[in-house]
Amino acid sequence: MKVWLAPDAGFCRGVRLAVKAVEEALAAGAFPVQVLGPPIHNPQVVAELVRHGLQVVHDLCEVDRGVLVLPSHGAAPDVAVTAASKGVRVVDATCPLVRRAQQAARELADRDCQVVVVGDPGHAEVLSIVAWSGHRAVVVRDADEVSRLSIRPHVAVLAQTTERPEVVREVVEALRRLGASVEVRDTLCPITRRRQQEARALAQKVELMLVVGGRESANTRRLAQAAAATGVRVYHVESGREVDPAWFKSVERVGVTAGTSTPQGAIEEVLARMREIDEAARRTMPGEAEHTAHTEPGGGEGVLEPSEQPVTMTEASAPSFQRGQLLWGTVVAVEPTHVLVDIGGKAEGVVPVAELSTRPVADPATVVGVGEEIPVYVLGVDEHEGTVRLSRRRAEQELAWQRLEEAHTAGAIIEAPVTAQVKGGLIVDVGLRGFLPASQVGLSFIRDLKPYVGRTLRLRVIEVDRPQRRVVLSERAVLEEEQARREEEVWSTLAEGQVVEGTVRRLTGFGAFVDLGGADGLLHVSELSWGRVNHPQEVVQEGQQIRCKVLKLDRERKRISLGLKQLEGDPWDGIDRRYPTGALFEGKVVSLASFGAFVELEPGIEGLVHLSQLSDRRIEKAEQVVSVGDRVRVKVLKVNPRAKRISLSMREAEQDAERAQLRKYMAEHKSDRVTLGEVFGNLFTEREKAHGEKSSEISEHAPSGEPEHDA
Ligand code: SF4
Repeated sequence: MKVWLAPDAGFCRGVRLAVKAVEEALAAGAFPVQVLGPPIHNPQVVAELVRHGLQVVHDLCEVDRGVLVLPSHGAAPDVAVTAASKGVRVVDATCPLVRRAQQAARELADRDCQVVVVGDPGHAEVLSIVAWSGHRAVVVRDADEVSRLSIRPHVAVLAQTTERPEVVREVVEALRRLGASVEVRDTLCPITRRRQQEARALAQKVELMLVVGGRESANTRRLAQAAAATGVRVYHVESGREVDPAWFKSVERVGVTAGTSTPQGAIEEVLARMREIDEAARRTMPGEAEHTAHTEPGGGEGVLEPSEQPVTMTEASAPSFQRGQLLWGTVVAVEPTHVLVDIGGKAEGVVPVAELSTRPVADPATVVGVGEEIPVYVLGVDEHEGTVRLSRRRAEQELAWQRLEEAHTAGAIIEAPVTAQVKGGLIVDVGLRGFLPASQVGLSFIRDLKPYVGRTLRLRVIEVDRPQRRVVLSERAVLEEEQARREEEVWSTLAEGQVVEGTVRRLTGFGAFVDLGGADGLLHVSELSWGRVNHPQEVVQEGQQIRCKVLKLDRERKRISLGLKQLEGDPWDGIDRRYPTGALFEGKVVSLASFGAFVELEPGIEGLVHLSQLSDRRIEKAEQVVSVGDRVRVKVLKVNPRAKRISLSMREAEQDAERAQLRKYMAEHKSDRVTLGEVFGNLFTEREKAHGEKSSEISEHAPSGEPEHDA
């Protein structure tokens, strides 16, 4: 039997940090050291920590002193606050990747997004993520559960860190099929993702797979699922004792992998048990001497060819390194020319200063510190010197490619700073050099891109070509999607007759466009005021905040008609009380027509002075008597509130004025025998001059047939 061990089996960085945090708390002696639920999902490791004094509690009520360690899979935000308020020292061992998912949940919920978490609803990590969202997030296990959700137009998706990428993809697709606009946050752990890939690759080349790890461990279960998806027989075991000889009957090729919370000891125990089983089988079948159990470290592509020289189990279980491997290590020394990294083997890992970062590094101490966990890529092994040459630069590039490929497939939004302006666009730092074409910056063409340098943008990956080392991104795709989402949200709240607030965005000759917080409405010039408005700028200005009324919604053509004047009372209400028949008023000539002149009595109230009512002489055109802008005296002849019409007369107003003047004169001179010529002599002379018409002596009586409204 030949056995291949996956290259990255065993503790991940998050688990190592959590175990280390507990060990340090125990070593410090500040007892009791407590943890809310198991610190990691491996019963053997937890049992060992408990033997050294760790207390696993299940309720915060049980904690009132000492130290409380928050587990690697996180806790609700109020746990640390409550514990600290009791005087308990809190050690936060939440894995940084879980913390990232928690913060994403909080940020999305604060933006009032509908947050969907893909994962196991009972898992401690998922419970903590939901708690960080203020308990507003909903959890689905898979795409089948999406149909039970009541979906809002915009949904944000994030996942339990150990979830399988294909499950997240299916959920996103199911949400999109329901018409939701989906924002995906990539919260998947790259370590588990890589292990799942390795498990799949290994499973395709063996007859049987053993997955070692705690049954409560989500990432171990998902490793088993990833392997089983290839069709191979898979057994999930916690220790060597569970390995059954019957499984290996007629089996020659076996793959072994392990979860991120599985200690090295458990893996070695399983390998040792398999060797025992194989040796026992050979003893009973002496003729099959070539059936030799040996382990090939490093599974996956290109490593499954059995070596000529079988290795012993002891050698196989010790970590070994191959070019191209991606590992996590702990910085143990920082020197001016290189950094030493503990990568778990006997050999020492060395990162030359040039391999520390994609940017030039003058002093390594400015980039890393002793004790820091960093990703490293194996460049080669120097057997002679017993060192492993490593590159953090390459590792980060590898991780960046993985993240970008996942983000591209899942349609996730990533954040990246703009580092430079180049011909045709911008360069962004996505862990690699990403290109943001000018046409993909902002919502409309931006001529000067210089102000973008140094800013961090939210971007969508629109092209990833690893062989060509090409990454193309788009800010416009994100902005357009957000705009569409905001528009949807605005539309979902609008109703005709509603009074809304908005900002005047743009003025045109026919009206003003008002931004209602994501959707624009048109305030037509005729709806700005009851009065006459020639241009919208007479009433509103760009950037002004206004309240207006929704007059009409055309959902099909996405048009919103707004009105401003409707917020004021209709000036035609009570018009006949304000403008009684026979009363005299002053108004302004606002327009001339072939049949007369329109006179504005107040904003929104205009009356018509018919040609016959403009003057007591015969005229052909209104222009002969008045011009636009003249202030004139008019008499109300008739008011029709229903038709919104008022008939006015300048002629009668003038006659009334003359009569009033006459009465006043007569009263002053106490005489009832006076001629109009005596009173208005000068006036008539001036008129004759002005119009070249003949003056005549006028009797004190009004001309026959003329109405006398105020006689
Ligand atoms: S599996 Fe990934 S997310 Fe989970 S603890 Fe390990 S590093 Fe963190």
